[in-house]
Amino acid sequence: MKNLTSIQPSKTQPARLAALKQSFQDWNATPDVLTRMAKRLSTTLSLETQLGIVAEEIAATIPFDALNYRHRIARQDFVFSTGMGGPHRCEYRLTLEGSYYGTLTFHRRHKFNDEELTGLEMMLSAAICPLRNACQFIAVEQAALTDSLTGIGNKRALDEALVQASALADRHGAPWSLILCDLDHFKLINDNHGHVVGDHILTKTAEKLEQAIRNSDTVYRFGGEEFAVLLPHTREHEARDVAERIRLAVEGIRVDGGEPPLTVTTSCGVAMHLTDESTDQWLVRADEALYRAKAQGRNCTRVFATIS
Ligand code: GH3
Ligand code: MG
Ligand code: MG
Repeated sequence: MKNLTSIQPSKTQPARLAALKQSFQDWNATPDVLTRMAKRLSTTLSLETQLGIVAEEIAATIPFDALNYRHRIARQDFVFSTGMGGPHRCEYRLTLEGSYYGTLTFHRRHKFNDEELTGLEMMLSAAICPLRNACQFIAVEQAALTDSLTGIGNKRALDEALVQASALADRHGAPWSLILCDLDHFKLINDNHGHVVGDHILTKTAEKLEQAIRNSDTVYRFGGEEFAVLLPHTREHEARDVAERIRLAVEGIRVDGGEPPLTVTTSCGVAMHLTDESTDQWLVRADEALYRAKAQGRNCTRVFATIS
């Protein structure tokens, strides 16, 4: 309670309010480059937008020909580039409180002098906190879309990807296919060998799936022992071939757990997106194909055939 008087209205309050008003006017007039940059950076958590602002604000004082930024955030490479390079360059590793937040490289046709380098460092010092926040925001967003056991996309990521894929397929008419994979008799593996071994097999399965697909395809764990693969520009017969490749890759998994080593198989269901169908309808058709694969003996692939 000792400091209560300091927050009570006092005789100096009008003076303080006047000072606040003046300060607000100065702040709003953004008289200096650092205040203006900090203000602009505080309006967004998008790393891309922030880097665009940093590039603009720096270029107004220290001209350069190109700026490149690269950072690996939550298993994904983030790259930002603006302008065309030059033979001279200066590079900054951005760090704050011992953590790394990417590397910025400036390129120019003629050399940066010492004063310009000092200026660059001052501007980057003013930008580092907002850039750190934007990097952390990406990491948090990624974590919300990632399955913590296997590191691949989770159910939420799949839902978002399906919505996006449906919209693209409807707009451009390009074929998109979906493969659902469900490990066979997985409960038995858990019951006989324990959850730790079960988890290890799930991790290995995710790795095999990632190895079996193209770069443009994406893989998700959307349930306990259920995986999905989304394939752009892929018709159902091509998706069936990918599903078979996945099935054989999973069949090839060997886990030490006695003699002989433990093995696992998967059943796969394939469905190609139909124009104007909802993501739920698409999922239901892939699930129907998967159900048939289970009913017809497991360790096989079935396709929800369409007339197209
Ligand atoms: P089916 O061939 O019909 O798919 O049989 P299944 O035993 O694979 O299917 P079921 O749905 O009966 O069992 C799925 C099992 O997956 C049950 C559960 O023990 C296991 N499971 C689900 N999530 C996890 C997980 O995160 N870790 C481990 N180790 N097991 C899991
Ligand atoms: Mg299942
Ligand atoms: Mg299963």
